[in-house]
Amino acid sequence: MHARSFLCALLVVAGVDALTQDIARQPLPRIESRPAPSQTQSHDQPAPGARSPRNANYSIDVRLDHAARTLAGRETIQWRNISSQTATELQFHLYWNAWRNADSTWMRERRLAGTRTAPRPDAWSSCDVSVVRVAGVDVTSRKRFIAPDDGNTADQTVMSVPLDTPVGPNGSVQIELEWTAKIPRPFARTGYIDDYYVVVQWFPKLGVLADYGWNTHQFHAATEFYADYGIYDVSMTVPNGWTLGASGREVTKSANTDGTTTHRYRGEDIHDFAWTTSARFLEARQTFEHPELPRVEMRLLYQPEHSAQVQRHFDATAATLKYYGEWFGAYPYGHITIVDPAYQSGSGGMEYPTLFTAGTRWLSPRSVTQPEAVTVHEAGHQFWYVVGNNEFEHAWMDEGLNTYSTARAIAAGAFPNYLSTRFFGGFIPWVFMEVPLSRETEGNRLAGYRAVAESDIQSTPTFRYWPGSAGAITYNKTALWLNTLENHLGWPTLQKALSTYFARWSFRHPQPDDFFTVLNEVSGQDLTWFFNEVHRSSNAFDYGVQEFSSERLERASASGATYRTIVVAQRLGEAFFPVEVVTTFRDGERITERWDGRDRRQVYVYERGAEAVSTEIDPRRTLLLDVDYTNNSRTLEPRAGEASLKWALTWMVWMQDLMLTYGFFA
Ligand SMILES: [Zn+2]
Repeated sequence: MHARSFLCALLVVAGVDALTQDIARQPLPRIESRPAPSQTQSHDQPAPGARSPRNANYSIDVRLDHAARTLAGRETIQWRNISSQTATELQFHLYWNAWRNADSTWMRERRLAGTRTAPRPDAWSSCDVSVVRVAGVDVTSRKRFIAPDDGNTADQTVMSVPLDTPVGPNGSVQIELEWTAKIPRPFARTGYIDDYYVVVQWFPKLGVLADYGWNTHQFHAATEFYADYGIYDVSMTVPNGWTLGASGREVTKSANTDGTTTHRYRGEDIHDFAWTTSARFLEARQTFEHPELPRVEMRLLYQPEHSAQVQRHFDATAATLKYYGEWFGAYPYGHITIVDPAYQSGSGGMEYPTLFTAGTRWLSPRSVTQPEAVTVHEAGHQFWYVVGNNEFEHAWMDEGLNTYSTARAIAAGAFPNYLSTRFFGGFIPWVFMEVPLSRETEGNRLAGYRAVAESDIQSTPTFRYWPGSAGAITYNKTALWLNTLENHLGWPTLQKALSTYFARWSFRHPQPDDFFTVLNEVSGQDLTWFFNEVHRSSNAFDYGVQEFSSERLERASASGATYRTIVVAQRLGEAFFPVEVVTTFRDGERITERWDGRDRRQVYVYERGAEAVSTEIDPRRTLLLDVDYTNNSRTLEPRAGEASLKWALTWMVWMQDLMLTYGFFA
């Protein structure tokens, strides 16, 4: 194995430079001095100290042509088959082809979701592979596009290349690719504006070979990515003097004679690699320290107009490293890069291994969690990225877990968090200091869920959700059901389950049932009934008071009671959950009933000496998924003051719906 890899590495060096000159007109940095990963270590076994299988290792050289808005790249992949399946072909994602024509699956889905505006003529992108060599053999002419999800022949986001020599379980192969790419004006947080670049999902990238075959989905509008873990050794050549940030750590930086600088980064045990560069970035660094967690070097690349908010970015990132670290497990990389995106770049709020984009505004009051909410969310993704789920099929496993964790960390960090709105084109914020935003409802995004609660069965592969409501089922519903489970089991139990899941599935690819197994195991309960409702059905929860009366008896009962109170609790939604029904009497007594919530209704009759004044279903709001909480309670004496308060609250909920609609981020 060693011998063959070494031979191939030599062949690449011989073949690459001539072709690249042809493409970019300027030579890329020479790579002879840089050993391919195969020459320094075996890939048949994970290297000592490896946390992941490291079966997909990328060595990439890429040059940015700022004037032409293009990339020219070449890469060598050392791939090992860790499935039980023999590979007879290779499959690659070419994500930027999603924005090369209006009929790609991504563009079609975006139109279904309601976005009708046509991109600017200079917005389109492309990824054109010019050379493919497998084990040293040029197979370029045999590459073809496939569309495994929908058969869309206009979609070029998945490329297949046959293997003349199949690669059996634990077998390895070296693949070399050369390509050019047109950088988009931002689509899906990817691309350039002026001299600011966010270069993500930018290189030809292998799908994941599973025991049942390749898992290489087309690029979809509402879902993200999936890949195996490995080492990324990436050299990026950009104009001199520009600041660059990337996944991993910078290893070397060298100025070239042609006015460019080559930054070489290395990241280990990651499943993707992203980078950003700009002439305008300012840079700040701080260190996260904690008595029981490893140190993390935090690097912030920020826009000059946001210099007053530098510390807020660090505080939010540090809070994430602290709370997620204490609750789920330690952040394993020792470094993290926070990118404050350029104004109107459309690139804020997105996570990549060890690097993420946040997002703020020029004026951002301290009582509003901007930039904190997006910073905690994207920093938090780093933890659920360590657990490598399939984001095409089970996006809830990272976005949902992370929305829940974000809301919890924002509350634990006691960041001031009030309702706000913006005027004058979004420049001037106005904060409603009377309206604090709560973790349970706003943090878990209840309003967005309520509007589309039954739109999809969560266990459907995410890329097949209705694009217009996929976010609510992925993010909001999961956050609400996890918080409901926390209320039901208690935080210590749920925390132990989440940390067990994190430890067991780090650097692996868990399926939904793996998550449910851990929850059952740690809680000591069979929670299948709950997962059936929240995950394997599209049923909604809604409990309400159907009838409530308390009437004086014509004559006292044998026990001396003078009032008969009747409470009828009703299950209006298809889904069930155990709830409390609490009735309060004029003498101050409260009676709490525990209803399993399964029948359509439950009748309670009380004969007592006092008249009832109110009844309420789930007054502690354990069931956060209840889509209509306003029907959960009834009082017998209408009180003008309370009624107006209720209307005011309804108005606030409406306002919050509006805010949440605008507040949606990845
Ligand atoms: Zn997210």
